[in-house]
Amino acid sequence: MATKHVYFYGTSGTDGDATMKNLLGGKGANLAEMAKLGLPVPAGFTITTEVCTHFMKSGGEYPEGIEDQVAAALRQTEECMGMKYGDPDDPLLVSCRSGARQSMPGMMETVLNVGLCSKTIPGLVKKSGNERFVWDAYRRLITMYSDVVMEKSEGIEPAEGQGIRHQLEKIMDEVKEAKGYTADTDLTAEDLKDLCEKYKAKVKEVLGKEFPDDAMEQLWGGVGAVFKSWNGKRAKSYRRIEGIPDEWGTAVNVQSMVFGNMGEESATGVAFTRNPATGENKFYGEWLVNAQGEDVVAGIRTPNPLNDETKSDQNAHLASLENEWGDLYKELDDIRLKLEQHYHDMQDIEFTIQAKKLYMLQCRSGKRTGTAALNMAMDMLAEGLIDEKTVVTRVAPAQLDELLHPIVDPNAEKATDAVVKGLPAGPGGACGEIVFTSDDAVTVHAAGRKCILVREETNPEDVEGMRAAEGILTARGGMTSHAALVARGWGKCCIVGAGDIKIDMASRSMSVGDKVFKEGDAITLNGTKGLVYAGELAMMDSTENPRFQKFMEIVDKYRTMTVRTNADTPEDAAVAREFGAEGIGLFRTEHMFYGEGAEKPLFVLRKMIHAGSDEERNAAIDELAPFVKRDIKATLEAMDGLPVTVRLLDPPLHEFVPQDEAVLAELAEALGVTVEEVKARGAALHEVNPMMGHRGVRLGITYPHLTDMQIRAIFEAGAELKAEGKDPKPEIMVPVTCTVKELDFVKPIYDKVAAEVSGAPAVPYGTMIEIPRAALCADQMAATAEFFSFGTNDLTQMGFGFSRDDIGGFLQEYLSEKILDADPFQTIDQEGVGQLITMSVERGRATRPDLKIGICGEQGGDPASVKFCFDNGLNYVSCSPFRVPIARLAAAQAAIG
Ligand code: PEP
Ligand code: MG
Repeated sequence: MATKHVYFYGTSGTDGDATMKNLLGGKGANLAEMAKLGLPVPAGFTITTEVCTHFMKSGGEYPEGIEDQVAAALRQTEECMGMKYGDPDDPLLVSCRSGARQSMPGMMETVLNVGLCSKTIPGLVKKSGNERFVWDAYRRLITMYSDVVMEKSEGIEPAEGQGIRHQLEKIMDEVKEAKGYTADTDLTAEDLKDLCEKYKAKVKEVLGKEFPDDAMEQLWGGVGAVFKSWNGKRAKSYRRIEGIPDEWGTAVNVQSMVFGNMGEESATGVAFTRNPATGENKFYGEWLVNAQGEDVVAGIRTPNPLNDETKSDQNAHLASLENEWGDLYKELDDIRLKLEQHYHDMQDIEFTIQAKKLYMLQCRSGKRTGTAALNMAMDMLAEGLIDEKTVVTRVAPAQLDELLHPIVDPNAEKATDAVVKGLPAGPGGACGEIVFTSDDAVTVHAAGRKCILVREETNPEDVEGMRAAEGILTARGGMTSHAALVARGWGKCCIVGAGDIKIDMASRSMSVGDKVFKEGDAITLNGTKGLVYAGELAMMDSTENPRFQKFMEIVDKYRTMTVRTNADTPEDAAVAREFGAEGIGLFRTEHMFYGEGAEKPLFVLRKMIHAGSDEERNAAIDELAPFVKRDIKATLEAMDGLPVTVRLLDPPLHEFVPQDEAVLAELAEALGVTVEEVKARGAALHEVNPMMGHRGVRLGITYPHLTDMQIRAIFEAGAELKAEGKDPKPEIMVPVTCTVKELDFVKPIYDKVAAEVSGAPAVPYGTMIEIPRAALCADQMAATAEFFSFGTNDLTQMGFGFSRDDIGGFLQEYLSEKILDADPFQTIDQEGVGQLITMSVERGRATRPDLKIGICGEQGGDPASVKFCFDNGLNYVSCSPFRVPIARLAAAQAAIG
């Protein structure tokens, strides 16, 4: 049987359903599902994502047989709608829209009103009885089609402001000005008719081709352009940021047009079945009379509120659908309930009312803030709509980050007046210097500075800058505008529709009344309230949501893998415990020589490093012992009852060589040598490649007394705490090992100390696996090591041969050229470095079946890496304190599968 490329949906039978997202895209699958549910969906058909992949691979060819399948589906659509495509008397018009597996709001192209041409225009005029509407629809078609199909999809890249869309809009502005009109709606049918002629002439002049006057040619042009927009610039950028594979492709949805702009009895709107910013169980949306869907999302007119609950300062004076057309609101509200009962999730819907009849154009799982995700999940659990496991899957681990995000300090806010108010589109606080273009946001961010991207209106082309900015502020646009959707999806602070802002690109400034802000000036956003402040206001951590605790309790119920933290001080350990850490997976001993209060031990360490003989060195090591014991003991105490993996000293010694003359002089005096001699001893420690130099276990082998001292400090700290009635659980971890012989060299020292210190708890003896050779020889390593902890920072460095400190020099190019899918120092390279992990686990456990295995590299807090660790049977992950809740959630989701 020939492959099915085209799936019909409508009242006369529907081919697809919501499970077919991979093939039909999210939009197509949900249109099919809604049609199956008996909701009023205008009939149409979906051309599959497989066709897109074929189209891309073959350089614009369609698979065989597709014409017949499209013709058949078009016939079915015509029958359902009782109209015919291209018919002079009662013409059916269609839209061509994209729809990928995962929603990519505004990143691809759409063409509406397809099928309007000289043959069909008179029929539509007659049928609608509204000549103005028809010429307006034709004007929109010419604009969209010439922009999307004739320019963008042909790869024409005009200079800024020279695109065909811009040029056509300029003509419209000129006509309006000549006639003294202020709004588009002032244009009469005659005006629009003239305008269409002017538009067509301009299209011919600029693009060198006639605007097509054949309905079928328009249809195939629209379909092809939507497919091609999969590889448009902004779609590609968005995919890279969101990690969407290029191979997925988009489907094309060809759907019967219904018109929200047919007159005062027509309207269009966008709604969420619950509030997407707060999660409140209230219908939330915006609508516009006599408008097409793009008018709502483009933010050109301020949309009306759907109901009282949606009213804000910006739109409270505008009529709600609930008050205006109560019956239709009721019908829509019933659909809202039906959709939630069916999908068990919050839906984002688009509807159109044509001559007082309601149509559903789209539904999809709605993007939401982290707060909303949490609140909705907990509400739906209470409502019996979802079970606990589903609750756990409803919040993305990265969204937790947002819940723990800073907000503007309320006291700082009280002390100052907001300069302007907009719509609260993305929560939390943000401050930074003003930038006016996406490129500037990227540049400022790359320079390590914080910025707020300020734009006239929301534009999907700004996606890179939106990502780079701390927050986004726009003068126009509603809560459902592109910027709002994208920002919300990322949990980014965002304010839209701050209408009092005037942006002047020429002088790179914005003004609010008589206040002027220049590029580079600092502003602060409160995205939860929509308030903008001058200057940089203080930030604070968001107050704890009590539901967060409840949610995390459920998460932990389903989690099987332990989550520890990387902490080097009792303070960090205490914070991590608050976040739910179940131990320390990495205590970097050397960190006790950095920072406040470290002067004395650091000085002694330097004495040790600059010692001129073994005797001198050993004396310094003995002097160091009480400091080491004190710090380890304090952290063991803070983590009482929970395991603490203490790693023996790791860093290259030259890191501690002083440069400061005063310190050098003091050191010289303590050692009884000249400053020159101290400098010479320091210089002798210089290494060409310190990352691969005298560090980790290598230090422990060359200076066994150092090893003895550290192990003794751990045992003694443990013994003392036990004597104090505590329950310390120290573990000893040997770093930078590449052969079991290193472990076997250190082990007798461990055994000797263990025998000498009485009253100490059991102290497991393990190693890091962070050198590829150690991974390859994991079976041998496990003969001595009682546990492994993957040091994926070094394992990645040595697996790739990328210096972890210098990757910044080429990472951006590697990402943009798709040589790397992601930064391997942030997320485990599962394909390559991951093999070393899988292999180590297998080989290590072949030798020692109960080998405990964890990870303590940076990737331990990355959700995808956590899942990888789970899949590989690791016992725990360890990450920085603030990422502990994220790792807990990621581990629970991995366990649920
Ligand atoms: C590692 O290499 O992953 C690790 C945790 O050790 P460090 O970052 O201290 O080298
Ligand atoms: Mg390391």
